[in-house]
Amino acid sequence: MNQSIDIASIRAQFPVLNEQVNGKPLVYFDNAATTQKPHSVINALQSYYQHDNANIHRSAHTLAARATEHFEATREMLKLFINAKESAECIFTKGVTESINLVAASYGKLVLKPGDEVLLTEMEHHSNLVPWQRICAETGAVLKFIPVESDGSIHLETALACINSKVKIVSMVWVSNALGTINPIQTIIETAHGIGAKVMIDAAQAASHFKIDVQALDCDFMALSSHKLYGPTGLGVLYGKRELLAAMPPYQSGGEMIKEVFLTHSTYNELPYKFEAGTPNIADVIAFKMALKFVSDIGHDSIASHENSLYHYLLNAINHASLKQLKLIGTSSNKIAVQSFEIESLHHFDVGLLLDASGIAVRTGHHCTQPLMRKFGIDGTVRASFAIYNTTDEIDYFIAALQKICHRIK
Ligand SMILES: *Cc1c(COP(=O)(O)O)cnc(C)c1O
Repeated sequence: MNQSIDIASIRAQFPVLNEQVNGKPLVYFDNAATTQKPHSVINALQSYYQHDNANIHRSAHTLAARATEHFEATREMLKLFINAKESAECIFTKGVTESINLVAASYGKLVLKPGDEVLLTEMEHHSNLVPWQRICAETGAVLKFIPVESDGSIHLETALACINSKVKIVSMVWVSNALGTINPIQTIIETAHGIGAKVMIDAAQAASHFKIDVQALDCDFMALSSHKLYGPTGLGVLYGKRELLAAMPPYQSGGEMIKEVFLTHSTYNELPYKFEAGTPNIADVIAFKMALKFVSDIGHDSIASHENSLYHYLLNAINHASLKQLKLIGTSSNKIAVQSFEIESLHHFDVGLLLDASGIAVRTGHHCTQPLMRKFGIDGTVRASFAIYNTTDEIDYFIAALQKICHRIK
């Protein structure tokens, strides 16, 4: 276990971890769906509404100035967090879903012609699939898929072979939410650029595990989600290179995204405001800064090292417990701390209920990846996913609960 971080003091920052569920202490293993929030984030939300609540960017009064300053401070912190060249390349959205919809509807519609290809993988979250299906239907472009192997990984050579001169956009997940697989995005980005394609990265799961450097990666767009990163729900980020964002038409239209409005036409605001129509999610943006600070203060290396050691502890424990009825789904060696599995002759939803009776929260179902589940010939899995505040004691308790479930069906 990592010596340099004190997990007990980290746990103490998360009030929800004191909850009892069905008379048992909560064991929260559903972090790939959403992470819990530290005191600093919760306090920032309350503090904004208590002391600073005002609409931003448009007023002379003090509260509005304060709210604007805090709001824009998050953007500055975000720029550092992902190493963007400038904060104007960071756009606030509702989440990864909206970030991808924005790129598909604005950039996709701008560049795609009949016969062009949009390349995804077979492991995409529905939010990186359905928007592209719709824009392809509209533009006559064709969707292509990098296949997923039986261990839940993609082969780099197979992926590179899919990148031909018809491909205009590659949009892919960095880390699979359903399986935990880490994809070789760096080489794919380089190869795609070699033929003039642009690359969008879904970093929803990656952002809490890897230090992100969008300039080093050289991706064209990246989507992040606050709520998978210890921040509030309903908030995400679209990073895009300035020259691309500047050339793209607005996504939504209304207040804030305009420069001048006449009755018959309008001119648009500069970046990033061109893509932030309407009153944004001010409180959550302000609180998100504390989430970024939480992650940065601990450091990605420490977080990854703790989570990886938990993950290896889990795999060992599963082996030692000889849970014969348990089948792992997603067994690539290059993964984050996410494990999907099935228990023979039990529906995943029932396994979830039985674990919940012991206070253990896991996700069950298709994890918004129905095509991937179909590929594995199943309709869903049970998924355990770890975060910085999880412990080996919790894993021991989880394994004991799984043993009980397996014994019932013997
Ligand atoms: C959660 C998730 C999404 C959707 O993100 P939201 O911010 O909830 O819209 C997309 N892709 C992956 C890989 C995810 O894990």
